[in-house]
Amino acid sequence: MVKQANSQMTAQLSGKALLGWRILQWLFLAIGLTILSLLFFAPQIGIHAFWNGLIPVAPLLLVLLPGLWRNVCPLAFSAILPHRIGLSAKKRLTVARQGKLILTGVILLMLILPWRHLVLDNNGPATGVVLILLGAMAFYMGTQYEWKSGWCSGMCPVHPVEKFYGSRPLAPMPNAQCTSCHNCVIPCPDSTKLLQPEKQDNTRNHKLAATLLIGGFPGYIWGWFHIRDYHGTEGLEHILAAYTLPLAGMAFTLAVYLFLRKNSGIEKSLLTRIFAAAAVTCYYWYRLPALIGFGIYPGDGMLVDLSGQVPNYLPFILQGAALLFFSWWLLWKPTPQTSWTIRPPFANRRKRL
Ligand code: SF4
Repeated sequence: MVKQANSQMTAQLSGKALLGWRILQWLFLAIGLTILSLLFFAPQIGIHAFWNGLIPVAPLLLVLLPGLWRNVCPLAFSAILPHRIGLSAKKRLTVARQGKLILTGVILLMLILPWRHLVLDNNGPATGVVLILLGAMAFYMGTQYEWKSGWCSGMCPVHPVEKFYGSRPLAPMPNAQCTSCHNCVIPCPDSTKLLQPEKQDNTRNHKLAATLLIGGFPGYIWGWFHIRDYHGTEGLEHILAAYTLPLAGMAFTLAVYLFLRKNSGIEKSLLTRIFAAAAVTCYYWYRLPALIGFGIYPGDGMLVDLSGQVPNYLPFILQGAALLFFSWWLLWKPTPQTSWTIRPPFANRRKRL
């Protein structure tokens, strides 16, 4: 499947394997476009498929196989498209600009999420418009910056979470996006072992983005799950409320993180994994019961209503399983020395500006 090109450092996909990945990428693009169409033309099905089907799987995928996600993400397709059709200016992303983009991605993430409660969770066309805007931003970054540097390793709001959750992938994937490496970003998040947000703290913006995400995300998620979904235009009257609890939770866990970082003596990468385990466990602690009809707010985020059909203790079992699994995976399992994907052979060896 994969031809080794430079001892263990790089690997190039064979023709057959590349074809297989291209088919998978087109398949995910087709799924993405189908869901996008449903959001406009059959909103209830589209909302269900996107918010309650696809999105709840994403954090688990980022923990286990971030390389798979990086290979098939439809927004990555949009970001790389300008290169493939010769529309990219291929500018080198400076370290300073990268820091600004990564911080922008973290802020975008925190700004967008409350709008799920306010509008998006119950409004297919609004969700569709946000996805189109994100796709347009990814495309624009591709027209400006070299390869994946501007969006996939820069401003994408999911990218900081990939680095936060994905430091212990199950196995490296072949890199099916980069057929050769343009050294577009250093360190390459796809090819660097044990990458975590704070391992890129080159500038003040890198540091700030990493600190806000690692320290703040567990509390932010906790606060987010304690806001209900609003219907129609009522959400517009609760904008402040939708932000207050997530940001208060964020401030609390950020303060705990900063205190521990300064005073506990816990090694920095372990502390990051503790907070990553807390964040992803918190997500599934609330998300799994909600998916089967046992959420804090009945009906919100429900995929299928099993309440009344399964024992009332099932949600507690699911919560315990999530806690054990993510604690084991991120904290106790022996650390695999692996990257998300295997770097392809270098196209050139230009130095970073
Ligand atoms: S493998 Fe090379 S071209 Fe691909 S994202 Fe990493 S640095 Fe950029």
